Amino acid sequence: MVTYLACFIVCDFQYVETNTKAVKPFRVYAHAGPDQLSLALGVDVLNYFEEYFKVEYPLPKQDMIAIPDFISGAMEHWGLITYRETNLLYDDLGSSSYNKQRVAAVVAHELAHMWFGNLVTLEWWDDLWLNEGFASYIEYKGVANYEKDWDMGDGLGRAAHLPPKRAARNHPDEITEIFDTISYSKVEERMETERLTKLWVFAPKRELFEWSHRDHK
Ligand SMILES: [Zn+2]
Repeated sequence: MVTYLACFIVCDFQYVETNTKAVKPFRVYAHAGPDQLSLALGVDVLNYFEEYFKVEYPLPKQDMIAIPDFISGAMEHWGLITYRETNLLYDDLGSSSYNKQRVAAVVAHELAHMWFGNLVTLEWWDDLWLNEGFASYIEYKGVANYEKDWDMGDGLGRAAHLPPKRAARNHPDEITEIFDTISYSKVEERMETERLTKLWVFAPKRELFEWSHRDHK
């Protein structure tokens, strides 16, 4: 596992829990009490991605935690995904339907990383656009499977014409710089045709398939 995915948290937050289809514990932690939406949504998306990638979720448990004043929107630490509270907690009385879709999209995006990004990882940061672009594409499939009435589509066509962006990145500041809209949208831009879409989805799935058949278990 690459080091940026490691995470340990000591807290007295409350949690709700369920099991995945493969009977692994799935928990959602929050300071003021977690809600059931992100739990139901999360386990549904995880089960769906297991089928979609044809690779079982590899860790013995999955936790998601809402952290007050978390600096990023969310971070795909492996098995312990961290979120800004507004991206994980949905309040039936105080939140809008947009908030609900936003929670669903962020949760699906981070869970997609459990496979693509974490299980198979890019060699270096200059290909970050592939990691984030693919997760941004796959999140729509996860959300659409959970809630068909939202008509989320497949996320294609969101991106306008974006310039190519690839350069050597070595300093931490240079790496932080590339976590921008272009990195997240570039794959979607490239999936302009059905043929390209199939190719882009096939390549990461193939990578996961080969991983699952290597002698490492
Ligand atoms: Zn991401």
